[in-house]
Amino acid sequence: MDEKESKEKTKEQMGQLFDKIKSMMPSEAEFIKAEFEGPDIVIYLKNAKAVYQDDMIVRSIASAVKKKLIIRSDEAHLMEPEKAKEAISAIVPKEAVIASIRFMPKFSEVYIEAMKPGLVIGKGGSTLKSISVQTGWCPKVLRTPTMSSETISGVRQLMFNEEDFRKKFLANVGRDINRVIAKSDWLKATALGGYREVGRSSLLLETPNSKILIDCGISPEPSARGSDAEASRAFPYLDSANLSINDLNAVVITHSHMDHMGFIPYLFKYGYDGPVYCTPPTRDLFALLLKDYTKLVQRSGGTPLYDEKDVRKMLLHTITREYNEVTNITDEMKLTYHNAGHILGSGTVHLHVGEGMHNIVHTGDMKYGFTRLFDSANIRYPRVDSLFMESTYGGQNDITPNRHEQERMLMETIKRTLQGGGKVLIPVFAVGRAQEIQLVLESYLANEGPYKMDVPVYLDGMILEASAIHTAYPEYLKESLRNRILNNRSPFESEIFEIAKGERSELMEKGPSIVVASGGMMNGGASVEYFRMLAEDPKNTLIFVGFNSANSLGRRLQNGLREVVLPDQDGKLTPLKVNMNVVTVEGFSGHSDRRQLVGFAENLRPKPKTIFTMHGEEQKCEDLARTLGRLMHVDARAPMNLDTIRLK
Ligand SMILES: [Zn+2]
Ligand SMILES: [Zn+2]
Repeated sequence: MDEKESKEKTKEQMGQLFDKIKSMMPSEAEFIKAEFEGPDIVIYLKNAKAVYQDDMIVRSIASAVKKKLIIRSDEAHLMEPEKAKEAISAIVPKEAVIASIRFMPKFSEVYIEAMKPGLVIGKGGSTLKSISVQTGWCPKVLRTPTMSSETISGVRQLMFNEEDFRKKFLANVGRDINRVIAKSDWLKATALGGYREVGRSSLLLETPNSKILIDCGISPEPSARGSDAEASRAFPYLDSANLSINDLNAVVITHSHMDHMGFIPYLFKYGYDGPVYCTPPTRDLFALLLKDYTKLVQRSGGTPLYDEKDVRKMLLHTITREYNEVTNITDEMKLTYHNAGHILGSGTVHLHVGEGMHNIVHTGDMKYGFTRLFDSANIRYPRVDSLFMESTYGGQNDITPNRHEQERMLMETIKRTLQGGGKVLIPVFAVGRAQEIQLVLESYLANEGPYKMDVPVYLDGMILEASAIHTAYPEYLKESLRNRILNNRSPFESEIFEIAKGERSELMEKGPSIVVASGGMMNGGASVEYFRMLAEDPKNTLIFVGFNSANSLGRRLQNGLREVVLPDQDGKLTPLKVNMNVVTVEGFSGHSDRRQLVGFAENLRPKPKTIFTMHGEEQKCEDLARTLGRLMHVDARAPMNLDTIRLK
């Protein structure tokens, strides 16, 4: 189909679609127009009340046209904002504690931020319904995080300020998604990064009509900030794939770790202007992490790949989707996120290509097992042909010991160190492991039992901000934790935690303490600063609780390194003796161990036809593929970077 033909067909189909919607609308609703807004269809009505009162109308139209529908009163029929504010304040019960009411006239939306969103929604959505019936505005409810988060308020503010841009952008995306194309007769996947390695994850999926990326990260190794030659190993192989950035239809992010999204602002810097899909918490977390990354690189004297302006661009091009929401991201590709259990907002990606042509499940990073934060990764999908699965702990010996015992071992190590007059340093990824460890520490230190202790736990780096983002999304957390947050008993706000304020060295001059500091692999960040102060005293203990990549300082210390050279306060390289204890306590990972990986693949329904392993060191990817192939009698392989695989 040539471009002209496609354009005509698209116009024709759009006309038919909108006519169908119009014909299904009750006449008293007074249909004005329908238009695309990103993946959704917006219907403007003169009398939206007629529809608000009967949910079935919208539901039956949505299922007939297979799209998400948004109903709006057209601008002329909206209540004046000041009056609407009064009306909303009168409708919503006082106990909801409304923090702000803000309007987005371009979208006919009113955003109500409250401490208790449930009361703004009302039973079965009854309060929301009253608001739309009385004011004409379409109400959106936001939770006020119990811990204030600069990131969340910044992202929300940006969306308000750039309302006009968003409106235009979403209209463009909608046009691109609904472009009529010829039926695709092939589908191929190209491994652009993160195959037989951990870092720079990226997979390109192509049909004759669509090109999308799942993840686009940078390598967590120090080389990511080093020389040009090293840098080439730090980023995905976008150049080699003969890929023009402008040809991409969409970028899909599994979760907010740098090795999965750290390269995306660079795409925007070089002209990409399409959508980035992710869950709402993923958006807020990448806003936090990417801002920190640009700052960190600048501070260490390097040139960041991109600056805050590009991160802002990325934010403005983001389209968020909740778990289990089916979304057309091109005319022939349907995306659905499911819980991955790895970090806040992490999703496995289910992609349905063509009408039943091929189905992909891409795990991103996932945890199929117990954590205090999340439910285990989802294993039920409508259809699965190809499974791309992570293999971080895919090696034969990567068996995590019993979690309960490991928690005791952690607490035992902490107790011994503190009783001996020492200090404990726990380096963690600010997003994910930090919160898991916070939950463990809170549970033992604050509750009756052998480890109840009155000792300060200092949180340093981005941890506090990341924890605040967790409290804004309780629905993404495990039920017991969710309930604590909803009842204002958030463990993240327990009084055992203290924010590390002022000079770090002064904190370390005080008595025994536990420091939980960001910079999980100790390639930089707060953890390294504390390490420099604590390393020489044999009374202190350094405890690793998460993944350390092959060349990281963390891994070298784990392997017994007893002398390091680190820049001192003035940046001068100085040798440092490592006399402190170095202990690794496993079992807190947000990744599945070997048994959990095998369990995930075996329990996945329906059974995949082909398995591709990724996101693991070479031998682990190979070993896991071999094992799964043998156990499950399926074709299982460990592709290399730059391999292209025809899936259909
Ligand atoms: Zn991750
Ligand atoms: Zn990862």
